[in-house]
Amino acid sequence: MTYIQADGSIKIAENSRIMVMDNNYRIMFYSYNGFTVRRSLQNIFIKNYIINRRRMVERLGINEAKKIVNEFYSYARNYTYIPEHVNYEFLQDDAEKLIKIYGNFIPIVPPDQYLSIYLKITSGCPWNKCTFCDLYQNDKYNVLHLKDIESEINALKEYFGSSITSRRSIFLGDANAINIGSDRLFEYLDLIHSNFNLGIYSFMDVFTTLKTKKFEDFVRMRELGMKRVYVGLESGDPDVLNILNKKIDINESINFINTVKDAGINIGIIILIGAGGKKHSQGHINNTVNYLKKINFTHGDMIYLSELSENERFLSALKDKPMTSQEKYDEMFKFKSLSSFGVPVVDYNLTEAVY
Ligand code: SF4
Repeated sequence: MTYIQADGSIKIAENSRIMVMDNNYRIMFYSYNGFTVRRSLQNIFIKNYIINRRRMVERLGINEAKKIVNEFYSYARNYTYIPEHVNYEFLQDDAEKLIKIYGNFIPIVPPDQYLSIYLKITSGCPWNKCTFCDLYQNDKYNVLHLKDIESEINALKEYFGSSITSRRSIFLGDANAINIGSDRLFEYLDLIHSNFNLGIYSFMDVFTTLKTKKFEDFVRMRELGMKRVYVGLESGDPDVLNILNKKIDINESINFINTVKDAGINIGIIILIGAGGKKHSQGHINNTVNYLKKINFTHGDMIYLSELSENERFLSALKDKPMTSQEKYDEMFKFKSLSSFGVPVVDYNLTEAVY
């Protein structure tokens, strides 16, 4: 059976296979034999499956990705028209066109923003000093001018064409995009809001942004379409934050997050599993749970658990043994069993957090 879905995407359901592509023939999702594969717009293929009740996530290498693409189009052509030139190379060219609009590869999005339109209003990270983070190490922090954002919007509209109806939101890039001057931010949000009838989302830190934004700013942001901000809190334990070189003041940041909530914007809080190594694991769990208890969570908020992948800078700051994969799994399990905040607690696996 072939369906045109409400967002214009094409869904084919045949025996044990489900295939979804947007109306420009870009593969979005493929499910077969207990595996699911998602294609990101930058042509990264993410495969999910379950082993011993654990959800496994893999980024496919180019050969396996090509095999999946050939299989997908070969089956799909039995049910709907797909032009002959549509193949792996077509998808790769398409991804390169998108990356060219941004100027470089987009390293990360939150797990519920895969179907967003990524819109860069800044590039890089204004802080860029967290020990565990390599995301923007080679990018100079920069705020885009209004005319550059206008060009980006036009280029993205042209890139998506009619398939823009498959996109669910606007995600502001890069790290902590809302940390620019408030008047400038409102001007940008106004432009975005008038071009897209979609909710707006962004990362936000809680140590530099609390110096640039206050309650009234968040109220205005909500009026201009801001729905949720994602905070890389990582931990509620001062010792762990010190290892990570995140300059978060516990009480100030709790008040700040609750201010965002009071303004009517949802919050997504990201916790880093393994961030304290073995030595600080219990303190990391206890102090983070105590921190989260002080947040006024409501419907629409989320907590994300993200497993740390250690780099050299983190290891030298830790001055201790990192946790094994099993120990991180146990720590994640403890977090989940202690988390009763009335909001979803979900995994944030960076392997699949790709646009
Ligand atoms: S974790 Fe966030 S704030 Fe820290 S360096 Fe990376 S992007 Fe910047």
